[in-house]
Amino acid sequence: MKPYSKLTILLLAVFLVFGASCTAKEKKVQAAAEEPVDEEAIRIASIAVSQLPDDMQGNILDNMESFKADLAAVMAEESRFFIIADKSHLLTADYNPGELVSLDGKGIKVNKKGMKLEKVTFEALKKMLDDSAKEGLSLMVSSAYRDYKYQVGLYNYYISKYGKEKTDTFSAPPGASQHQLGTVVDFNDVENTFAGTREEKWLTENAWKYGFSLSFPKGYEDVTGYDWESWHFRYVTRSGAEFQKKYFNNIQHYMLLFLDSYRN
Ligand SMILES: [Zn+2]
Repeated sequence: MKPYSKLTILLLAVFLVFGASCTAKEKKVQAAAEEPVDEEAIRIASIAVSQLPDDMQGNILDNMESFKADLAAVMAEESRFFIIADKSHLLTADYNPGELVSLDGKGIKVNKKGMKLEKVTFEALKKMLDDSAKEGLSLMVSSAYRDYKYQVGLYNYYISKYGKEKTDTFSAPPGASQHQLGTVVDFNDVENTFAGTREEKWLTENAWKYGFSLSFPKGYEDVTGYDWESWHFRYVTRSGAEFQKKYFNNIQHYMLLFLDSYRN
């Protein structure tokens, strides 16, 4: 048998290397073209890029498949738990918070009678307070559901006392208060002396397990439009609270903004 000449071997080697790599590349291109366009991922990415800080965008884009699954779980919850209520997203005077439950006679500490909460929120709160009490903690509800009319009176009272500019840093104009949702609780003294107490530390560590999250964290005043309120927690469901922790640096406002855009 005639041995292959050196040239033949060289040509064969060149063909194998380049020919094979061309084929692989072509196959890849072909496969990508056949793959259906992931419109969901594109939509999520475009909302993230337009609304969220860089680190949150990166976290979402790098974990798109798990993000989509977690987002689906949040979307399966009732949408009212994710409504934005702030100075640029006002609730109407007749916003319906759903079934309200009285906090009186339910075995939880309250600073006044007659307070109410939305039913699902109340049940989550009750469990959270029972568990915290087992650990010897003393959490008291100081404010819960506040209707539009109440907020009108409160806001006007603060304006008469402090002026509008100062009032706007700590009190919501009518329609802009999360309390109108019926899913928000203020604890204990409603002062930042609450921060650093055993109760506050326990909430920071555990509230998400019951579906609650801090609405106005320290250092995000420009984002939320409100001063830091270490005592003000909103029920966003357990899947919502996890979603917020996992992709939004635990900043409720960013999660709500994302969900609002995604829904609309
Ligand atoms: Zn509050």
